[in-house]
Amino acid sequence: MATDWIALEKKYYMQTVRRQPIVLVRGEGTRVWDDKGKEYLDFTSGWAVDTLGHSHPVVADAVSKQAHTLMQTSNQFYTTPQIELVQALVENSVLDRVFIGNSGAEANEGAVKLARKWGRANRDGAFEVITANNSFHGRTMNMIAATAQPTHHKSFAPIPEGFQYVPFNDVEAIMAATTDRTAAIMLEPVQGEGGVNIPDADYFKQVRKWCDEQGLLLMLDEVQTGIGRLGTLFGYEAFGIEPDVVTLAKGLGGGMPIGAFMAKEHACALVPGEHGSTFGGNPVTCAAANATVRYVIEHNIAGAAKKQGAIIMTGLKELKKKHSFITDVRGMGLLIAVQFDREMSAAVLKECNELGLLLNAVRPNAVRLMPPLTVSPDEISQALKRLDAGMTAAAKATPKV
Ligand SMILES: *Cc1c(COP(=O)(O)O)cnc(C)c1O
Repeated sequence: MATDWIALEKKYYMQTVRRQPIVLVRGEGTRVWDDKGKEYLDFTSGWAVDTLGHSHPVVADAVSKQAHTLMQTSNQFYTTPQIELVQALVENSVLDRVFIGNSGAEANEGAVKLARKWGRANRDGAFEVITANNSFHGRTMNMIAATAQPTHHKSFAPIPEGFQYVPFNDVEAIMAATTDRTAAIMLEPVQGEGGVNIPDADYFKQVRKWCDEQGLLLMLDEVQTGIGRLGTLFGYEAFGIEPDVVTLAKGLGGGMPIGAFMAKEHACALVPGEHGSTFGGNPVTCAAANATVRYVIEHNIAGAAKKQGAIIMTGLKELKKKHSFITDVRGMGLLIAVQFDREMSAAVLKECNELGLLLNAVRPNAVRLMPPLTVSPDEISQALKRLDAGMTAAAKATPKV
């Protein structure tokens, strides 16, 4: 008899996450297969992680080769994949230096440590970081404090201090919240987990101007938007500004767990001994990230994301005309959301699972599409057909309230 993996998970895994009832065993490009051999189009891509699709040969080969060469050394020594990766990141960005960690939350922790140290030295002990409502910055204690969503705070008091919250896409709110305690402003270029919230075109220019006038650091959490997702290598390029600090994770490793924070020279306030990591900068994950980043740049994968994103948006706008239950479609590059007039995301996922399309329920009334950046027009048209059918069935099953 086939193993009941789901029953085993329910018995042994700590029940902290909500999963779809699917056991994935293999992936290739935009496609994944479950333990029963059923094929799906994966429009979640590991939560915007599988930049080049599942098991891209360039990434898989880099991992395999490095695993057979040198796996882990600690940062007590220099290792070459780490140095190659940071060179690629600096030479293709407006930032000057990089620290490599293991996840998005950890990258943001590093950025906030940097901001506090910088504020101590440059702004008379200022330590606060302003973040936006509906942001998402990770799940460590400080990053749930940075995440301005009450649901992330409610079970975990006392919440660490040092963050002030303002509405997103409102520069006047940032001005009003700035005090002599403020060291930095930390924002996502497009809010991902918050529902794919896209700011006005001039928002970041205004925030940049305010930071310059006040002498504050502008830190962008590009954990979700970085490495091509928005149709530019970094999200800040799409908004025409230069941040002082950028954090990366998800798409950086092409499927391997890695995070990074980057800073301009003037913001590099941390000195030897003040930050570190046992696994951060590990040769295998860095080899994967180095292969991913260089492939993205050499093959203009960000440009491809922009093009394919436009095709999806055109298709979704057609679906919006057809279905009154769709109230909004919004997206930038390949970070896209469809919003409904009712809480039917769970039903849409269930129907689409059946039809062979994997999606993310970013809000109870909105689903998120974030396929690999290498998704093809043919895969997009198949996915849109499945989404159309899945949403139609879900709307029938979910009465409007
Ligand atoms: C996913 C995410 C994080 C957290 O990353 P982890 O690797 O899960 O710690 C932080 N910020 C943003 C914008 C994210 O999307």
